[in-house]
Amino acid sequence: MNGWLKRGGLRYRLLLSHLLTIAAGALTLLTITIIFAPGLHDQLMIAWLGPHWTETADASMVEMERATNAIFTLAMMQALTISSGAAVTVAIFVSLVASRQIVQPIDNLLQVTSRIAAGHYAERAPLIGDRELARLATQFNMMAEALERAEQRRVALIGDVAHELRTPLATIAGYVEGILDGIIETDEATWALVLDEVNRLRRLTDDLQQLSRVESRQMTLAPTPVDPAHLIEAAVTRLTPQFTAKNIELHVNIEPRLPPVWADSDRVLQVLINLLGNALQYTPDGGRAVIGANSAGEAIRFWVQDSGIGIAAEHLPHLFERFYRVDKSRTRATGGAGIGLTICKGLVEMHGGQIWATSAGPGCGATFYFTLPLYDQHE
Ligand code: ADP
Repeated sequence: MNGWLKRGGLRYRLLLSHLLTIAAGALTLLTITIIFAPGLHDQLMIAWLGPHWTETADASMVEMERATNAIFTLAMMQALTISSGAAVTVAIFVSLVASRQIVQPIDNLLQVTSRIAAGHYAERAPLIGDRELARLATQFNMMAEALERAEQRRVALIGDVAHELRTPLATIAGYVEGILDGIIETDEATWALVLDEVNRLRRLTDDLQQLSRVESRQMTLAPTPVDPAHLIEAAVTRLTPQFTAKNIELHVNIEPRLPPVWADSDRVLQVLINLLGNALQYTPDGGRAVIGANSAGEAIRFWVQDSGIGIAAEHLPHLFERFYRVDKSRTRATGGAGIGLTICKGLVEMHGGQIWATSAGPGCGATFYFTLPLYDQHE
């Protein structure tokens, strides 16, 4: 058998099933002809000459009956042979057409699968074949697209991490070389600058580790019923000194008697501190920030509003993406790598909540919201 009609292949089995059906049909017809043809002929003779014709028939009539019977059977056999030949031809043709419609798309899919497995993520299966096969190809292409996106994200992530590591490493290397060459003095201020960069690297690796745990859903939550007001007060207590130092007013606006949320208080506190920290970072001295919570149907909505630099509309949908920074130079100078909001998003979504941001534009401040399910609702 050649490659086209491989023994055991789908084409081979399709053709074989057609041929077997024809063989079974022909065999049945043949058996019926052999068993019933003489009887049918007898009935014909009885109808023609009466039930007792054999008693009155002479030898020539009996001979004629035998000959007619033989011709009748032969005619049936010839008809059967010719029709079987025609059926086999049709079966081969039908198998060819069916194999084109079924086997070809499957072959295409197989080829594309092995190309993707070899790392060619942009490959797509052509949408040919029957409805089911075209649907299979569509689903396959969607899966291939998801794989391609994941691969692009992986490559981008490696590039981003390398980029983020390079700046502090280059700074540290610059100081150390300067010290070794005797150009920079080894005083306390120099070591403090080196330590700053080391801390930046440490923060970055901690964030990256947490990001990977959040994104791979490896982080486990220890949720309990938590009073939203307690969470906000804890975050405010933690950051009030920094707000005071920067002369930014910090107000709290919590709806009274809010029901408890279902949350891991440490993780939610981390989200609130991150959002409040951003409000502090992106609001100039003398500004104002408000942190609050109110009920929103089956959830509690937390929010942090500031009167800071604001965010242009085109950046809003990307804020929660990894390493996304609106103004890269500004945030690099202040230490942000653009991972904080991505971690917040992961943590909020792990709780079954949502997070989003709004801003009337640059210079108009920004508000970050997130929701957490009510404890009752969770129960
Ligand atoms: P970063 O560590 O750079 O602050 P984040 O993930 O916390 O990273 O924030 C991503 C980006 O979103 C920031 O770089 C900044 O451009 C923008 N951003 C976040 N919070 C605010 C805010 N309150 N006001 C204006 N821009 C903000």
